[in-house]
Amino acid sequence: MRYSGFKVFTEGLFGNKGWTPAWRDPAPKAAYDAIIIGGGGHGLSTAYYLAKNHGLRNIAVLEKGYLGSGNIGRNTTIVRANYFLPGNSEFYSHSMKLWEGLEGELNYNVMHSQRGLINLFHSDGQRDAFARRGNMMINQGDDAILLDREGVRDLLPYLDFENTRFPIYGGLLHPRGGTARHDAVAWGYARGADQLGVDLIQNCEVTGIDVENGKVVGVQTTRGAIKSAKVGIVVAGRSGQVAAMAGMRLPIESHILQAFVTEGLKPVIDHVISFGMGHFYISQSDKGGLVFGGDLDFYASYASRGNLPMVEHVMEAGMTLVPMIGRAKVLRSWGGIMDMTPDGSPIIDKTPVDGLFIDCGWNYGGFKAVPASGWCMAHLMATGQSHDVARRFRLDRFRAGQILDEEGTGSQHNLH
Ligand SMILES: Cc1cc2nc3c(=O)[nH]c(=O)nc-3n(C[C@H](O)[C@H](O)[C@H](O)COP(=O)(O)OP(=O)(O)OC[C@H]3O[C@@H](n4cnc5c(N)ncnc54)[C@H](O)[C@@H]3O)c2cc1C
Repeated sequence: MRYSGFKVFTEGLFGNKGWTPAWRDPAPKAAYDAIIIGGGGHGLSTAYYLAKNHGLRNIAVLEKGYLGSGNIGRNTTIVRANYFLPGNSEFYSHSMKLWEGLEGELNYNVMHSQRGLINLFHSDGQRDAFARRGNMMINQGDDAILLDREGVRDLLPYLDFENTRFPIYGGLLHPRGGTARHDAVAWGYARGADQLGVDLIQNCEVTGIDVENGKVVGVQTTRGAIKSAKVGIVVAGRSGQVAAMAGMRLPIESHILQAFVTEGLKPVIDHVISFGMGHFYISQSDKGGLVFGGDLDFYASYASRGNLPMVEHVMEAGMTLVPMIGRAKVLRSWGGIMDMTPDGSPIIDKTPVDGLFIDCGWNYGGFKAVPASGWCMAHLMATGQSHDVARRFRLDRFRAGQILDEEGTGSQHNLH
């Protein structure tokens, strides 16, 4: 079924009885040409592009819960291509181009909204750093505009410019940055993959990875053993645990990141804003809720919830920057499990086990990477070669010392 305005209209006229499920609910087969472990954004986009770009059809995505139950449905939906370092910048630039055609590609409304992202700076040093970043973005073919204090005030008059502890010096505007509806991205890729013949198997936890003579031969699951000579591990916060099933110890720590949403308000914040003097960022959802978040909880955990000290820290930063939000009621907060690498950059690579591939290390920024990550992981699994824009996301870069340290904070999980 193709979705269209006409279809919505005619279904509305006839009682909405003609809609069919967006994807099938197949039982697992005994064997597949390729298996993807993890039905989050990255797993689903990998399966979609394996089928679409490389013609594989006999593929399964194995998801332990329901599709989109992980971080893909827990993030704060920011999409941007404002990276600084070669290795990251071409990858996220590629991802942005895929985002820009995604709704047409998937025939699905992912509510991609390029409302502009503004990173505020609060000192001369920060201005220099953002000017450099902006130039790198422009060199990469992306967009960036350096705003002075008045330029920021024109766009965001409700910020505290006068009495604040960290005066706003200006901001780096990334006009093509913005947001997208996170679950819709999972649903769109799921529907697209299903239409290309991919089996999406929910409530199917992988409990073991079968390796014989250094080659992967299949997986054990809560719904039985499934054979495949190609397996991709795409499980975000659970990467360490699943890789351990194949005897690997990854350079990954799992940390909690929290997010918050307020009651619905009339449109008031029409950009994505990021505070430069504390980890705080905010946007407004199409439903009207103010969506905001901050830093990691700073201890390793597999719990999908956070603790009060970080709640206090985030609220404090929010009140410093945008005092007007103090009267909004917070409706919900939640946490997600972040797969943190030592340098804050991801991994898309082969593993020492033949036929076993890994896509992980998305830290707190993997939502915007969903299209390019699937594109590059599919390329790797289909051809055995790294895609050009993901060639630096190697698993062995930590051993070899070629880290991609975007924040310049050193090789420490909890600082990225
Ligand atoms: C609060 C918060 C805010 C964020 N904000 C942003 C943002 O604004 N912008 C941005 O770019 N990124 C953001 N992120 C990061 C982004 O959400 C993640 O990097 C990204 O979603 C991770 O990839 P994924 O979608 O594939 O993960 P997930 O959706 O977590 O997918 C992994 C899947 O693997 C499944 N799985 C795990 N183990 C097994 C197993 N043994 N067998 C079968 N299945 C298994 C899980 O159930 C899960 O569904 C944020 C994250 C959080 C938590």
